[in-house]
Amino acid sequence: TKLRVGLLFGGRSGEHEVSISSARAIAKALSAEQNANKYEILPFYIQKDGRWLAGDAPQQVLGSGKPLLESENATNPQQSQLTNSQTKTLERWQSPSQVAEVDVWFPILHGPNGEDGTIQGLLTLMQVPFVGSGVLGSALGMDKIAMKMAFEQAGLPQVKYKALTRAQVWSNPCVFPKLCDEIEATLGYPCFVKPANLGSSVGIAKVRSRSELETALDQAASYDRRIIVEAGVVAREVECAVLGNDQPQASVVGEITFDSDFYDYETKYTEGRAGLLIPSPLPDQISRQIQDMALQAFAAVDAAGLARVDFFYVEATGEILINEINTLPGFTATSMYPQLWSHSGVAFPDLVDKLIQLALERHSGKS
Ligand code: ATP
Ligand code: MG
Ligand code: MG
Ligand code: MG
Repeated sequence: TKLRVGLLFGGRSGEHEVSISSARAIAKALSAEQNANKYEILPFYIQKDGRWLAGDAPQQVLGSGKPLLESENATNPQQSQLTNSQTKTLERWQSPSQVAEVDVWFPILHGPNGEDGTIQGLLTLMQVPFVGSGVLGSALGMDKIAMKMAFEQAGLPQVKYKALTRAQVWSNPCVFPKLCDEIEATLGYPCFVKPANLGSSVGIAKVRSRSELETALDQAASYDRRIIVEAGVVAREVECAVLGNDQPQASVVGEITFDSDFYDYETKYTEGRAGLLIPSPLPDQISRQIQDMALQAFAAVDAAGLARVDFFYVEATGEILINEINTLPGFTATSMYPQLWSHSGVAFPDLVDKLIQLALERHSGKS
């Protein structure tokens, strides 16, 4: 009998469209000859309003690659601030009956409510195995402030930063200028203002002046209660994929090249705007150091199954700084994570198979 894989995609974050693309690629890999006799796909689509759909509707979304509910800003997630669950009144969550039929879950949701431990908590309570990190690993991997604290404890070098809350940013007009003064004094320009819990560069701004800083903080506060401001570095951007549970493996290191000001949403998802160099033409010794740091980062947040760890390589000084970990990285056929593995000897369909086996292993308590 086949194992029924609950492919959970869509979701309420600004990365809804990315999730659909990832799910399409995974569905295709599960239907590939080597997996088709092992696995049966049960797709579940989480609409932008939070409703779970099973049966024909998710099949339709997987087929067309398009969301069912078009939000006004669907093509520009920079403006679709769906991440803030407090601002929208939703119907209460109901579980479709097909949920009970799933043997193993494959959540391929990016961003808040998917990559941050919320879904992982629900699946843990259901007592059914699922692909990827558990509650702690997901939550630590999503929140850039908590993540940086965990990395700091692990001794991993990173950029200087300041953590803020929405309440501080939207505080009375006497406090706000002091905050900005402090950021200017400790981090300087350019700096990066980010909502702490997002991905795909949604809501991130590179700022070079006081007025840009003020606007960016206000904007970031509209996405998230927690905000991080980081000192900007001039560096090459390199990424390493990790696969496994207690004895994880690191892939070859990949590098991203682009002409834009930084690796923003448009650069990430517009065909031809960014190039991937796999493996990166870095000196071997630097690549090995990056792989080692990727494994340390994976352990530092208690990740499981998979993660993509992003780094800055400051060529001028030879420094390697960790930027972040992504516990549910983009998973389309052309995404960095599966590409890094295919260049490391694990083809896409094998990767998907391996991740499901790792989920079963973890659930069985062996790791
Ligand atoms: P992902 O899609 O990888 O999850 P994300 O939304 O979590 O992305 P980051 O990886 O933190 O965002 O930042 C996105 C991009 O912004 C980086 O790849 C880099 O181009 C730029 N960037 C972010 N922080 C800095 C920094 N401190 N210095 C220089 N560039 C930065
Ligand atoms: Mg990220
Ligand atoms: Mg991400
Ligand atoms: Mg990143």
